[in-house]
Amino acid sequence: MTVPFPKATIEGYPRIGANRELKQALESYWAGRIDAETFRSTTRALRIDTYNHLRDLGLTEDYAIPADVAYYDQVLETGLTVGLIPGGTDLDEEFALARGNDTRVPLEMTKWFDTNYHYLVPEIAEGQDITPAPERVLRLVEEAGEAGHKVRPYLVGPVTLIALSKPAEWSLLPALVEAYAEVFRALKDAGVEWVQVAEPAVVADLSTADAELANYLRQAWSQLLAEEARPQVYLTTPYGAAREALPVLGELAPEALHVDLSPWTLDSDSGYPERVRAQVADSTTLVAGLIDGRNVWAANLRVKAEVLESLGIADDAHVSTSTSLQHVPHSLNAEKNLPVDVANWLSFADEKIGEIQALVAGEAGASDAFARSDRAVRTRAESERTHNADVAAKVDALPTGTVQREPSFSERNAAQREALGLPLLPTTTIGSFPQTQEIRKARADHRDGTLSDDQYTEALREEIKQVIALQEEIGLDVLVHGEPERNDMVQYFAELLDGFVVTENGWVQSYGSRCTRPPIVIGDVSRPAAMTVEWSQYAQSLSEKPVKGMLTGPVTILAWSFKRDDVPLAVSADQIALALADEVRDLEKAGIKVIQIDEPALRELLPLRADERPAYLDWAVRAFRLVSLQAKPETQIHTHLCYSEFGQIIDAVAGLDADVTSIEAARSKMELLEDIDETFHSEIGPGVWDIHSPRVPSTEEMAGLIRAALENVPAERLWVNPDCGLKTRGYAEVDPSLRNMIAARDEVAQGL
Ligand code: GLN
Ligand code: ZN
Repeated sequence: MTVPFPKATIEGYPRIGANRELKQALESYWAGRIDAETFRSTTRALRIDTYNHLRDLGLTEDYAIPADVAYYDQVLETGLTVGLIPGGTDLDEEFALARGNDTRVPLEMTKWFDTNYHYLVPEIAEGQDITPAPERVLRLVEEAGEAGHKVRPYLVGPVTLIALSKPAEWSLLPALVEAYAEVFRALKDAGVEWVQVAEPAVVADLSTADAELANYLRQAWSQLLAEEARPQVYLTTPYGAAREALPVLGELAPEALHVDLSPWTLDSDSGYPERVRAQVADSTTLVAGLIDGRNVWAANLRVKAEVLESLGIADDAHVSTSTSLQHVPHSLNAEKNLPVDVANWLSFADEKIGEIQALVAGEAGASDAFARSDRAVRTRAESERTHNADVAAKVDALPTGTVQREPSFSERNAAQREALGLPLLPTTTIGSFPQTQEIRKARADHRDGTLSDDQYTEALREEIKQVIALQEEIGLDVLVHGEPERNDMVQYFAELLDGFVVTENGWVQSYGSRCTRPPIVIGDVSRPAAMTVEWSQYAQSLSEKPVKGMLTGPVTILAWSFKRDDVPLAVSADQIALALADEVRDLEKAGIKVIQIDEPALRELLPLRADERPAYLDWAVRAFRLVSLQAKPETQIHTHLCYSEFGQIIDAVAGLDADVTSIEAARSKMELLEDIDETFHSEIGPGVWDIHSPRVPSTEEMAGLIRAALENVPAERLWVNPDCGLKTRGYAEVDPSLRNMIAARDEVAQGL
């Protein structure tokens, strides 16, 4: 007798721990405060606690709990398990891959589908060795078993793993499939009855065309599913709708198949449930990923029940989340300060498990939950927090379609050269300086009232003074104030804008041990007062050199927040842009000559499907342009983007019409500059220092990168800067790295 697939399950659960236990363990281990054994036992305890907690929440069936475990990243974890990434089971080697060390640079990191989670990109090569290390996953099964849990091991699938690697080396697929087969055999031997394998590559347009990907899917999975010795396979397709791959998935007929039926997916593909119903084999258990794994709104259970009807499984439903819950906070229980009405509209990971159970039970079995859901939907739609007539009127008064800053780039560029008088290859940083213990303490003391408003302001001014003095001493050309007042580049603005709420404990993993606390856009957005002017003005008063005003752009504020699901994203983006445009005006009035509008998330909101991208880029570019539309010609507008894969959106980045664009480039060794063409007119600062890694780059290394950049960018347009802000680094690295950066610039500039 085989064990049937559980009725209620989830695709994955936040790994970081309700009190960020994983973060603490990782950082303690890296700092040498705990040894490997303590690290393993601490994280083991966290995993077992999590399984116990999930069982208490109602995931009581065998294999209902996914063991989606990873110390640093799920792609790295699977890569090591199946041997596509060599490194076996050595903890330090694993972290060296993730973070680099004295002798090796880390793997490149990039966003996981259209989320703010970053995965490590496997570097693979034709003919490479693939030796699986199934003991990685067996250990998890065993420790869970000892604690009384039959968990479902999680792997990223072979097709997705290659599709996300660099390069997507498909010649490795047969060998990789053998490796999965070996891992499956080991799991079977260990008595595991269900394994979860995620193939989200089928929902996205990646570098491999959809049709070709569908073929690889057929090739890989017909072989894997034909293996005798394997657990039952739960194949999953989170993050969107499968298109060309759907009939193939139907034919392959794994024992269970997950489809993403989140509001987002259904918005862009309303016929998906019917297609799923038509294609999926009767022998396959269809698992409806109805509960949104990426947003925090309480589900409209009635609407979800209708989707189950259209799938034809209302009477015998298997329900899950659309994606792993790793993208949402643990529990609303940790929020004591949310307005009660707002709290009723929300649902975090733990609450979502309750919604899944309600859908499995149906209205007859869960009438209370359905009544609560009805009430939340109604009160939210009627609330004044949701709708603000003044904001709506302002947005209605905006011109529609594209907007254009006057005069043109070349005229502005001339005016700015005169106003700023910068040297060749000007140097700058991206904005933040190290968030030191003292800053964090001052912020905490201010929050709990130990530090008065005035004392807090004084502490921040003192910090700004030091940051300015350091930059003057090192010899940077365009200075920054260092952003000490910001806990986070989005949250800071969200706290000062109307239409947002922020959480106290809503931490979500961004990469490795890094977490963010995304704010929630709950309604129409507006700016009650200036947000950054006093800090920028103070910093500028301390230096003759230009100090950059520092704003987070509308697309990024939106991307890194939980979004409204009751209006199009474009509407929220325009509202945020209008608020920021007022801030630009106030910064200019305060004498700021250079203003940076960060849009590191521009690519992240890019739809996974190519045919949906133009419409997105139109509204995203428009929102950015609205912010600087009225800026004076001599005000130099910078933008900053945080990734290296640039090709897909190069036209949109050009379309932002910024005066200077800084981008991440160090890890990918300036590769992206090959995409730069004549449509891209702005000055450009490709990062020469990878600030995600704790290394201090040498002068020679950075000089080499500047010279590489000069092969594609003329010297008059090239800036020299790090990849990103310095807030996660310490002064011990920042000080020598910046000095080396200036030395590298001087060395290269001398030779020009
Ligand atoms: N100005 C921000 C900083 O330096 C930009 C950060 C980012 O792009 N993620 O911290
Ligand atoms: Zn950045």
